[in-house]
Amino acid sequence: MKIVKKQRFNSQVTALELGYGIIGRPLMNVYCYHIGDTLIDCGQAKMAGAMKSFVSAHRIKQLLLTHHHEDHSGNAAMIANECGAAVLGHPITAHKMGHIRPILPYQHLVWGQSKKVAVSPLPAVVASNGFRFLSIHTPGHSKDHTVYLEVQNGWLFSGDLYLGDRIKFFRSDEQIDQQIQSLQIVLQHDFEALFCAHNPVLKNGRDRLRRKLAYLENIVGAVGLLLTRGLPEREIIRQLDHRQDRFVKFFTMGNASYANMIRSAIRAI
Ligand SMILES: [Zn+2]
Repeated sequence: MKIVKKQRFNSQVTALELGYGIIGRPLMNVYCYHIGDTLIDCGQAKMAGAMKSFVSAHRIKQLLLTHHHEDHSGNAAMIANECGAAVLGHPITAHKMGHIRPILPYQHLVWGQSKKVAVSPLPAVVASNGFRFLSIHTPGHSKDHTVYLEVQNGWLFSGDLYLGDRIKFFRSDEQIDQQIQSLQIVLQHDFEALFCAHNPVLKNGRDRLRRKLAYLENIVGAVGLLLTRGLPEREIIRQLDHRQDRFVKFFTMGNASYANMIRSAIRAI
């Protein structure tokens, strides 16, 4: 099943919401935000057709990538070819997008593979069409993760930094300590609307990011307590795991799970 929805969030921010499910509804939709002549993230390659008609109807001068994951970068090469748009991102994003990367079976199934594309380095501020996007490197979800703050309007295009107040799983390479640090850095800035790539929150966005920060800090605290009691990793996971991630854990063959979050906390302490 394919989901394609155009959404208008305010007079200047619209989004193309894209979802792809092999059988039935997609597990997770992705929002690609369009502001002026700028697009932030571009969805999964499996939804190239919908993205192609969207970009052909708008003038896209630049594509800002929050990170290299396939649901965010999947149509970057197509957009660069179709619109001649500049693709901008963190140097690590540029490195990752410079070649075709091997991906896991579930990623092939729900996203498809991103094609290689030249990604230009980001200036500190991308100014276009009267908007000013401040790029803030926010590693943790991935090494290259970057958010974009439209400073005049207080809009934070947060990629996968937020996702939810109490997330249930981490990918195996996520770093909880870096995520905590990234959230602390972002919270020093002024913003209200959180244009998350999977779960937009227009009101009280700062508060929601604060809740996510407190949640992650609590996990690290709980893991730390069990470590001081001398418990081994397996026992710590057994005690803290709420078993709410089972389908995702099974579907991703363990690439995304709650246990990964606990392991990351153990590594960080
Ligand atoms: Zn991601």
